Parts: sequence; structure tokens; C-alpha cells
Amino acid sequence: MELEKPITSPFRVLVIAAHPDDIEFGAAGSVAVWSASGAEVTYCIVTDGAAGSNEKDVIYDQLVQRRKDEQNTAAEIVGVKEVVFLGYADGALTPSMELRRDLTRLIRRIKPDRVLIMDPTIVLLSGEGFDYINHPDHRAAGEASLYAVFPSAETRPIFPELLEEGFEPHHVNELYLMLSDKPNITVDVSAVWDKKIQSLLSHRSQLDESVVDMIRMWDQAAGKELGLAYAETFRKMSFINATPQKDTPAE
Ligand SMILES: [Zn+2]
Repeated sequence: MELEKPITSPFRVLVIAAHPDDIEFGAAGSVAVWSASGAEVTYCIVTDGAAGSNEKDVIYDQLVQRRKDEQNTAAEIVGVKEVVFLGYADGALTPSMELRRDLTRLIRRIKPDRVLIMDPTIVLLSGEGFDYINHPDHRAAGEASLYAVFPSAETRPIFPELLEEGFEPHHVNELYLMLSDKPNITVDVSAVWDKKIQSLLSHRSQLDESVVDMIRMWDQAAGKELGLAYAETFRKMSFINATPQKDTPAE
């Protein structure tokens, strides 16, 4: 397991997740670290979060708005400037071409150095004292994001309509996968752990303080190997740009 080195040059990160609150569980500490070191972080939430209540008399428009407000607050706490909501139906997400195109457009607009997504390969997870069926929206958002990163974002002939809209190809250097079963990089979040919890607890419609003990256990376990108080781990993949874009001026 490798410890992530601090970001030292201008850096852009795009984090893509299925639901409001997904990022806060596994990555808000890392986001706080990155933005504190000057990185510009953008969030994209793919679904509208409307399945976030099983109450009979829930008013969906109000729930969707509340979850947006909660997500914006959660983002602000860890220094995120922009949250993009794509508004797909919660609970029924598929890795469609429409979604892949929307995410490709976003990657070409933001031009991130690093994209953090949900690991689409995870179907079943078991840990100490828990079994978990990965939510199908997580896998769908993960798969669409993965293929937006490669090949769609960097390949000119894919989605020619995006060129007409003015979005030129963009090569992503680094991919981070959250909730992976093959983590290979650790981010030390000890200094920002309180912020992470504050960010997570912004999702008041979904959770309360009773969740904190579980996250403490996870993050302490993640830090154990490297002797850190609290950590988040990811699977990191790095991509060398093999096809320099002659038409794209260097930035
Ligand atoms: Zn979720």
C-alpha cells in the first residue's frame, strides 16, 4: 500500500457518484485534503436522490430539493466549489449511452487531472460483521464514468455532437476507484477527519450521529497498515497519454 503524496501543482479533480451522500462515506476526507492543498474539486451526482425515503406521504420534489441542499452543504465543508446534478431517476440507473455522453461532456468541460468514481466491478461485498449487495446505481454510475474517462473523453470521433457544442477531447491522467476490493493507495485524512464527519452529517434526511462509529472503525482500519489515525483507500490507475492531440493547444 502506497501513501499518497501531497498535491503541489495546480490540479483539478472530478468526483462522480450515484447518490447524494455516496462521496461523503468514502472520499470526503481525501477531498478535504486535496482542496486544502489547492486542488480544484468538482462533484457530479448522477441521480436525483428521490429514492432516499420509504415514507408513504413523501413529496418527491421537496425530497429532491432537500437532498440537493444537503449535498451542496456537504461539498462546501470540504472546499468543493461546484456540484453538478445530472438528475437521473434514483434506483433505476443504467449505464446508458446518454449517461456516458453527459459524463464525457462534463469531463471535457472540467478537464480534470484525476477522476474519482465508484468501482463498477463490485457486486457483492462482505466485511467484518456485514454483508452488502452493491447498489445497482453505484455500478451503473461507475461503469458509465469509467468509459467516459476512457475512451470517450479523449477520442475525437466519439460523440461528435460534443465537438459541435465546443467540447474538445481531454485525456485523464489518473483514475481513483472508491469502494474497491483492490485498494493500492492510502490518503491520510487524520487532520481533516472532523470535517469529513461534519460533511457526512450534512445528509440529515438520510443519517444521524449513529453512523459515526462505523465510519471511525472503517477509517481507522484503513489507516492501520501505514500507522495513520484515519485514512481512506482507493484503487489508483495512471494512464500515459499515448496519443497527443495535435489540435489541442498545450495549457
Ligand atoms: Zn449510494
